[in-house]
Amino acid sequence: MPKPTIEAIDFFYLSNPQILDIADGSQDALLVRIQGAGVEGWGECEASPLVSIASWKCPMSHSACKPLSQSYLGKIVGSPEDIKALHHLARSQSLDLLQADHTLSGIDIALWDWLGKVQERPTFELLGFKQSFSKRAYASTLFGQTPEETYQKALEIKDSGFTAAKFGWGSFGQKDVQWDEDLIQAAREGLGSEHDLFIDAGTVWKENVQEAQQRLPTLKKHNIRWLEEPFENDALLAYSQLSKLNPHTPLATGEGCHCFLQAKNLIEFGDIDYIQIDPGRVGGLTSAHRVALLAQSKGIQFVNHTFTSTLALASALQPYLGIEEFELCEYPVSRSEVARAISPSTLNLNAGWVTIPEGPGLGVIPDLKALAPYEKTVEIKIDHELVFKSKPIL
Ligand SMILES: [Mg+2]
Repeated sequence: MPKPTIEAIDFFYLSNPQILDIADGSQDALLVRIQGAGVEGWGECEASPLVSIASWKCPMSHSACKPLSQSYLGKIVGSPEDIKALHHLARSQSLDLLQADHTLSGIDIALWDWLGKVQERPTFELLGFKQSFSKRAYASTLFGQTPEETYQKALEIKDSGFTAAKFGWGSFGQKDVQWDEDLIQAAREGLGSEHDLFIDAGTVWKENVQEAQQRLPTLKKHNIRWLEEPFENDALLAYSQLSKLNPHTPLATGEGCHCFLQAKNLIEFGDIDYIQIDPGRVGGLTSAHRVALLAQSKGIQFVNHTFTSTLALASALQPYLGIEEFELCEYPVSRSEVARAISPSTLNLNAGWVTIPEGPGLGVIPDLKALAPYEKTVEIKIDHELVFKSKPIL
């Protein structure tokens, strides 16, 4: 049987009618569809849609700055090794195209989904796992605008059957220590003392170790399981210093990694406890799976980062589905309108544990009818000549 060929790759830019200036990354989306051998695969980039489309179709600037279309279109893909080879080809041919990693993330995910459907196997099997394990979901949401609003959100989460929750971003870290204490206390009171509570500082202290350290007594008082992203993604020294000064406060980070090597640096030099990876940003499942295996070898916990659609969640679980000791799963509970339209249903939860649907590939297919109203038409012209025009999703 001939190996299947990538016949078409299409991008669909979707957006809420209004984008708010809040830390909710699910307000717009870029879906990727791969077609070939009569089969479709789907992936989602966690990135700015328009610039990501541009890196698919921009003119070549030089031999290491080519559009991604040159690396993927028309290629033959019959095995996981073929997907990995294309990933490396694309990264070298688009070395100087900084958006390339974000764009190829969605392509890579769609390829793993597509190959799974071609071979009628789940993606986690293609990645080398013999079985999948359920993960304990933590409800992931933003802090409310006030402690009272945060308390109400925590109550709702507790009543929904989760055994763990995370609150982050908003005004946390932007006022004084007492304000942060009030927010954390509200979350803890709403959630109750028996559930795990995580706090996400959303990079608010950049690389200022002292600012982070001032909050540690509050974190300890309310039994916080981890402090997430106190610093920017590249602040390796700040992470390491905070960790050494406070070895009993676990640190989590990594969602900002745009490639395998950034995650490797955090694991090897950041002294962190949890590496959080978004396949839609880090280079797809090819990179995310490499990070999971590295984390396992270094005794660091791997957790997905997902704040968008169920399609993105199903893909983010694949890199570590077969590794039982990686127990946790970030489970978004405040998805915006467009994220809910991409995949209206959520992944099954059973007593707070999440499993992926059975079926080939990722096991989740976007609802094209539901998301069509959110589609943006995109055209790119150079010297009045059309070089890219988006296709209607239906
Ligand atoms: Mg986060």
